[in-house]
Parts: sequence; structure tokens; C-alpha cells
Amino acid sequence: MQKPSVLIVGAGIAGIACAQALRSAGVAARVVDRGRKPGGRMASRTIHGRTVDLGAAYFTAEPGSRFADVVAGWLERGLARPWTDTIAVAGAGGIHRSSTGPMRYAAAAGLRELVVDLARGIELE
Ligand SMILES: Cc1cc2nc3c(=O)[nH]c(=O)nc-3n(C[C@H](O)[C@H](O)[C@H](O)COP(=O)(O)OP(=O)(O)OC[C@H]3O[C@@H](n4cnc5c(N)ncnc54)[C@H](O)[C@@H]3O)c2cc1C
Repeated sequence: MQKPSVLIVGAGIAGIACAQALRSAGVAARVVDRGRKPGGRMASRTIHGRTVDLGAAYFTAEPGSRFADVVAGWLERGLARPWTDTIAVAGAGGIHRSSTGPMRYAAAAGLRELVVDLARGIELE
């Protein structure tokens, strides 16, 4: 029987994660995107010599999830770092409130680089 091959439209984190899952299952997948680089809404640019996240700026990972394993690899390689577990809401009168929740992770080179890392070995067009 002919092996299936899959075309994924969109090289955001969802498309790339999908391509990796298919690849692990032995299914050939290629990813197309209308943009020049992978990342989608995890977009970063260099502005005045500094990396700026234009879309998502941080992410969370459910402890024990498969994504948490991916994040552990990024932390180990210095691609991601823990940022904060506390978010404050500020207005004209100062800080209104703050709430503590899950650890938020950031990426010094921009969140796009995490998608680029995940895309290693994936055929991108
Ligand atoms: C300003 C902003 C701030 C955000 N902040 C956070 C945050 O701090 N934390 C957080 O967790 N989430 C945040 N988000 C949400 C997060 O960025 C998205 O949920 C996530 O990146 C979506 O990933 P995705 O792969 O599903 O879609 P996308 O990243 O949107 O990827 C879809 C891809 O498909 C491509 N595409 C679409 N249609 C076509 C087509 N017809 N042909 C070819 N290519 C196509 C697009 O170019 C894009 O690259 C933020 C989003 C925005 C916009």
C-alpha cells in the first residue's frame, strides 16, 4: 500500500507540531506558509538591535504534558527561560491587582526561534 503523505498549511507552532507528530509516526509531511519564516503569531523581529516579540510574548506548559518535555529541552539548551508566575494589572492609578498562576516562559531570541527549533528536519515551503 502507498504510504500517505500530508501537506500542512501554516507553519505556526500548531502546523509544525503536527508535522513533527506525523514524522514521529513515520508519515511524510511538508509544511507550506505564505510567510517567509515559520512562527506565525509567534513572530519576532529585531528592532534597534533588540529582539521584540510581536505576537505571543510568553507561554505556559502543563506539568507532565508532552509539551512540558519539549519545554524542558528548550530550557536545557537555553532557548527558553522561566520568566514569571505573577502577572500584575496596571492602570493610571498604579498596580490594581496581581495574580499568581503557572510559570510563564519567555525566549531571549524571540518566541519565533522556538518554532524554528521545532521545525528542524521538517520540509518547509
Ligand atoms: C499580539 C498577540 C499576542 C499574543 N500573546 C500570547 C501570549 O503571550 N501567550 C500565548 O500563549 N499566546 C499568545 N498569543 C496567541 C498565540 O500567538 C497563538 O495562539 C499561537 O501562536 C497560534 O499558533 P497557530 O500555529 O495555531 O497559528 P498561527 O501562529 O497563526 O499560524 C498559522 C500560520 O498559517 C499561515 N497561513 C494561514 N493561512 C494560510 C494560507 N492560506 N496559506 C499559507 N499559509 C497560511 C500563517 O501565515 C501562519 O504562519 C498572542 C497572539 C497575538 C496575535
